[in-house]
Amino acid sequence: MIYTIASGKGGTGKTTVASSLISLWDSPVTAVDLDVEEPNLHLFLNPTITRIDPAWIEVPEADEDKCTRCRACSDLCQFKAITVMGDTMLVFPEMCHGCGGCLAICPEGALRPAHRELGEICHGQINSGRFVMGRLRIGEAMSPPLMRQVKALFSGFVDKEPDTDIVVDAPPGVSCPAVSAVIDSDCVVLVTEPTPFGFHDFKLAWEAFSPFCIPMGAVINRADIGDDTVQRFCDEKGIPIWAEIPFDRAIAEAYSRGEVVAESLAPLRETFHQLRRAMRQAATTGQGAAQCAK
Ligand code: SF4
Ligand code: SF4
Repeated sequence: MIYTIASGKGGTGKTTVASSLISLWDSPVTAVDLDVEEPNLHLFLNPTITRIDPAWIEVPEADEDKCTRCRACSDLCQFKAITVMGDTMLVFPEMCHGCGGCLAICPEGALRPAHRELGEICHGQINSGRFVMGRLRIGEAMSPPLMRQVKALFSGFVDKEPDTDIVVDAPPGVSCPAVSAVIDSDCVVLVTEPTPFGFHDFKLAWEAFSPFCIPMGAVINRADIGDDTVQRFCDEKGIPIWAEIPFDRAIAEAYSRGEVVAESLAPLRETFHQLRRAMRQAATTGQGAAQCAK
């Protein structure tokens, strides 16, 4: 099963929840940091990194002598990564999504494959199982191609070991990277906080993710601040609230020391055990997916 921990905005406690869940998981688990622009799960789980693989995509490189400036490639490219202007033919590799269409379509064989470095994929071990992290190269603008490679890796684990559990720390927000992280999950946990900003982005996330009809529940962090707008919205939409985490200075202090809060603060352990049980029940029964129809 693939369990994804997501949030409509950064700073709600998504990694706090993910790291605590992973540390208390009751069976071997693969921890995945898919927040490739700013991965930080490793700071809490302290994995032993066993291998780092470079990640890249195939981009076109032009042989201008062979190119007849027919424009077939520039007309095809949806991302404006190739331009033909008069006698000038330009490739912008940083805008290329690596679909390979131009390489396949060029009638003159004037394009050859080259590599653009995306970043790296780190493999490691934690006490409860495997650890995988994507890390985008500094200056690289596109995270989905690297995320696809990380996802292909852990989907391969699930194909080989169908009973394995994967817990994914997703990128925050509701743009392409967040949707890409959520889309193949068996269960999504939306972490939020009961503030106007928190509610606004929680609502956006629910609207963005609910059409996928994946069982989804909420975790309200710093639950005793703000108001009850998030709870009322959850009641209205039938979104189960799987856990509430109090606003507690001890949690902030543990987080700032890089500790897994469920390990440092015993009273929180049962909260995360209950959350894990609710997630597993939702993933195995499909409970919570009905909310997509509303
Ligand atoms: S399709 Fe090939 S020949 Fe035509 S403009 Fe592109 S690179 Fe040149
Ligand atoms: S590989 Fe695809 S995205 Fe990249 S330049 Fe060619 S057509 Fe455009």
